[in-house]
Amino acid sequence: MIIFIGPPGAGKSLQASLVEERGAAKWISVGKALRASLSGELKEKMDEGELLDDATVTGVISEAVHAVPVEQKILLDGFPRKESQLDWLFTPDNPRQVIGVLNIELPDEEIMNRLSKRGRVDDDPETISHRIQLYKEEINPILEHFENLHVPVIQVDGVGEIEEVYKRIQFAIETLKKGAEEHAN
Ligand code: AMP
Repeated sequence: MIIFIGPPGAGKSLQASLVEERGAAKWISVGKALRASLSGELKEKMDEGELLDDATVTGVISEAVHAVPVEQKILLDGFPRKESQLDWLFTPDNPRQVIGVLNIELPDEEIMNRLSKRGRVDDDPETISHRIQLYKEEINPILEHFENLHVPVIQVDGVGEIEEVYKRIQFAIETLKKGAEEHAN
């Protein structure tokens, strides 16, 4: 299992779908999996953009992970989003070894550019810079935690054409797979 991390506007879903389409790994989008399996109050909470409780989220992920054939690597997108969610990855509830983290990096100006081009109502500069701030507060302690656990973290430059960024991601996935194989032998 590879943890896929990146700021809003990084093109994470697009890249993850390419990874899956081309057979490098199976993409699990936590947001998508939650949306597909929840209803009622929890669904409303989701639509409001509020984070759901850890047990609900790990329950849905666990089911999705178990459905993937063991020979297929998993690219987990959207988890962990809080430090409290890190633990689950290293419990027997997760049948997969975390072989690494793939972190897409994008300069703030580039995030601003990309999100403002999308032209959504909530994409005014102040809201965007607030989202960037929140993202950093959310993700920095998590990245630090992975590093402390000696889980390899690969930084991928997210600036460039789609295929260019894809090549970097593909290379990073291969590197993590090789590292895990060497470790196992
Ligand atoms: P996303 O598609 O990643 O924007 O996620 C959509 C919604 O799913 C979020 O607004 C949250 O309510 C919920 N969600 C996704 N990932 C998580 C997570 N790791 N922890 C808690 N809630 C999550």
